[in-house]
Amino acid sequence: RPRALSGIQPTAESFHLGNYLGAVRQYVALQETHDAFYMVVDLHAITVPQDPERLRANTRIAAAQLLAAGLDPERCTLFVQSHVPEHAQLGWVMNCLTGFGEASRMTQFKDKAAKQGADRASVGLFTYPVLQVADILLYQADAVPVGEDQRQHIELTRDLAERFNTRYGQTFTMPSPYIVRETAKIYDLQDPTAKMSKSAATPKGLINLLDEPKVSAKKIKSAVTDTDTVIRFDPENKPGVSNLLTIYATLTGTRIAELEQKYEGKGYGALKTDLAEVLVEWVTPFRARTREYLDDPETLDAILAKGAEKARAVAGETLAQAYERVGFLPAK
Ligand code: ATP
Ligand code: MG
Repeated sequence: RPRALSGIQPTAESFHLGNYLGAVRQYVALQETHDAFYMVVDLHAITVPQDPERLRANTRIAAAQLLAAGLDPERCTLFVQSHVPEHAQLGWVMNCLTGFGEASRMTQFKDKAAKQGADRASVGLFTYPVLQVADILLYQADAVPVGEDQRQHIELTRDLAERFNTRYGQTFTMPSPYIVRETAKIYDLQDPTAKMSKSAATPKGLINLLDEPKVSAKKIKSAVTDTDTVIRFDPENKPGVSNLLTIYATLTGTRIAELEQKYEGKGYGALKTDLAEVLVEWVTPFRARTREYLDDPETLDAILAKGAEKARAVAGETLAQAYERVGFLPAK
């Protein structure tokens, strides 16, 4: 079986709809075809300031949501990044292979550093894409399911895998991004040209999966569209309506062309009302399942402990090989 690897940050109290449609849905699908490793990336979370108690709680909440979304610990390996020390260890080796200019060109870093204020951004934020490289290479991953915003980091991973393999001998598998075009970028409901993001400018544009369903329904109904009235998929000229159609089509498994037909001659109000209902029907059981996992932290922690053990077996082997190739003296 090919390997898959991905991670999600515990930086908010809830995943948002972009995380689910762009990434987590693909995690669930790939556990059927791949030897899949999924992790809550708490090391990445602290690249920006986090409250310690909040981070701990959000880490469990993130794991519970992954299970609620359909990850099955019998069919994939689910763990917390900091439980597997090899990530930080290989991360250091990768830092030493990365050019300063190369890291400076990462657009996610530039965007996030700008948000922090240039002087306040941490060195960790600067090198987090390189840690991500280590995350992927440790598992010899073939496929990395992510949203479009992560494409550049997968490119960096490929460059560094190639560099390491050329310098030290074949060690790492060359990974490929697994990006589903239709849902690769879900947009903010209030600013349909910007990515829906945990750190969104307007809370009204962000659909949090764990929010009160009524609140999310309201956000759908007040989504920004355009002054035209035709319901047509046209991301360039009608980004708001197109975003709603993408969400609707994916949550219901309907083709967009079918939806265009269904809403021919109807207004935006009808589309929004129906989509709000679709969303409420999806999040209601999702929230209940998440709560069940959170109400039983012993079981949740046991799943994560078992996942970490499975992950360490693979990561430990890769790290040992990389250390040997680099020329570190084995500790005996
Ligand atoms: P932040 O803005 O703090 O980086 P985030 O919303 O991007 O948070 P992450 O935990 O960094 O959340 O991302 C988890 C996964 O969700 C990644 O694979 C990312 O590409 C994907 N993702 C995030 N936002 C979207 C979006 N709007 N559309 C599609 N995929 C997304
Ligand atoms: Mg992100």
